[in-house]
Amino acid sequence: MSIAENLKQLKQDLPEEVTLVAVSKTKPQEDLMEAYTAGQRVFGENKIQEMTAKYEALPKDIAWHMIGHVQSNKVKYMAPYVALIHGVDREKLLKEINKQAAKHERVIDCLLQIHIAQESTKFGLDEEELFTLLQNDPATTYPNVRLVGLMGMATFTEDQEQIKREFATLKSLYERAQQHISTFETLSMGMSGDYPLAIAEGSTMIRVGSKIFGARNY
Ligand SMILES: *Cc1c(COP(=O)(O)O)cnc(C)c1O
Repeated sequence: MSIAENLKQLKQDLPEEVTLVAVSKTKPQEDLMEAYTAGQRVFGENKIQEMTAKYEALPKDIAWHMIGHVQSNKVKYMAPYVALIHGVDREKLLKEINKQAAKHERVIDCLLQIHIAQESTKFGLDEEELFTLLQNDPATTYPNVRLVGLMGMATFTEDQEQIKREFATLKSLYERAQQHISTFETLSMGMSGDYPLAIAEGSTMIRVGSKIFGARNY
């Protein structure tokens, strides 16, 4: 099936309140343009250099989401244009995003990444770190950052019950966090292999790559 057909099929079963981020990392610009022509406007990338090259070449009404692990020294390259940073997993990074956003007189939307998987390789804050950060009044400390929600990745496993439990954990943290912070509106969870489960557990934003663009070869 073509990219346009994959998108159409995916969107058919998507609740209206769930935003689809088309994860286009490693894919050539023609593939992104095919999705764009089919109406897709939100794209996710995990490398700042690659995202910036695509941003410069492609239509300006695309919303670029950084979904990967972010090195502080690279924030400056995306600060002028990035629409949402999903992987904020440490306060130092928040501080740098705030600084770079201020230089461009912008407020950058960010999600805090939470570690919900069993793999130790996945990044993210734990529950205690999350609430410590939220209790320290980040809106005042970082006025050029708007914290709009949480993001998480489930364990890569066949065990559906485990994935479901991890998403449910994230959803409950999200609901508790919402009571501290009025700007929370986004819960980013679910990828090609697990997005139906994520939606059933309350996701409002899914990040889907291979199901739209086909398998990636690195
Ligand atoms: C690559 C990636 C995705 C998309 O993965 P697919 O399995 O291809 O849908 C989603 N989220 C993050 C953080 C990723 O790095």
